[in-house]
Amino acid sequence: MSALKRTLMSVIGDRLLDRVHVAEVNEVSENFRFIDLESEIFKSVSLQLGDKLQINTGDWNFRTYTPVVVDRENGRVGLLVFLHGRGPGSEWAKKVRSGDTLHVFGPRRSFRLSESKAPLVIFGDETGIAVTASIQRRRDRPITKIIFEATDITEVKTIVDDMRLDRVEVTAKASDGNVTEASILSVLECARNGSHILLTGRAESIRQMRDRLRSEGIPMSRVTAKAYWATSKQGLD
Ligand SMILES: Cc1cc2nc3c(=O)[nH]c(=O)nc-3n(C[C@H](O)[C@H](O)[C@H](O)COP(=O)(O)OP(=O)(O)OC[C@H]3O[C@@H](n4cnc5c(N)ncnc54)[C@H](O)[C@@H]3O)c2cc1C
Repeated sequence: MSALKRTLMSVIGDRLLDRVHVAEVNEVSENFRFIDLESEIFKSVSLQLGDKLQINTGDWNFRTYTPVVVDRENGRVGLLVFLHGRGPGSEWAKKVRSGDTLHVFGPRRSFRLSESKAPLVIFGDETGIAVTASIQRRRDRPITKIIFEATDITEVKTIVDDMRLDRVEVTAKASDGNVTEASILSVLECARNGSHILLTGRAESIRQMRDRLRSEGIPMSRVTAKAYWATSKQGLD
């Protein structure tokens, strides 16, 4: 964010944005935090699947996360944040403590899946666990397969087991940064059997997966894609 924008935000941000309290922080593993936020605003908002919450992670650097648990009665929203280690969002999640106050923007729409009730195949990485869990919890959309490419497979398997996610394959990210052929074939198999495809995570991986699906004749109307981060960008979205 430019110096001008930052100055402007420090003047108007406090008036324009909602404040929420951090109710609880759970260090679920070395690189994941479950962060429970509390506010009156969460009692009235109507959260839809895949919605996002943008958080001032400090110095008016906003970063985007997905509510995975929504408890309207008590005005609570839970986030699962991956600490990849290289940005203000990751740094904030490492240091955040219960009792902290945050400025937030949202929750609001991030993407919409097609109305079709076709089962889903979901492909992503550590950042897609929250949205996948929120889809699975709603139970209105069957999921045929979930594929997460991860840096630490054991850690991610533990997280998905703790969150009781079904039909998950956790595989290692390739060292060259490309999506693995095994992941592509796994998504293709489900796509050929009629599944709708949801791609989240790194922009470059989504592009690679889309290109391959297109070249294999899968109609793009059956693909929903939402980039959550990109190698050379900060604070995508
Ligand atoms: C709609 C939406 C929903 C999201 N939901 C979640 C969620 O529920 N949980 C979650 O953990 N994340 C989620 N993300 C992703 C998260 O917002 C990004 O990873 C964000 O970039 C983190 O901010 P940062 O300040 O840590 O890094 P930034 O300052 O944004 O990026 C710095 C550098 O770090 C690298 N980087 C960024 N993210 C990652 C990553 N995940 N893995 C490896 N390297 C990375 C990039 O190379 C980037 O150039 C979501 C993003 C969007 C758009």
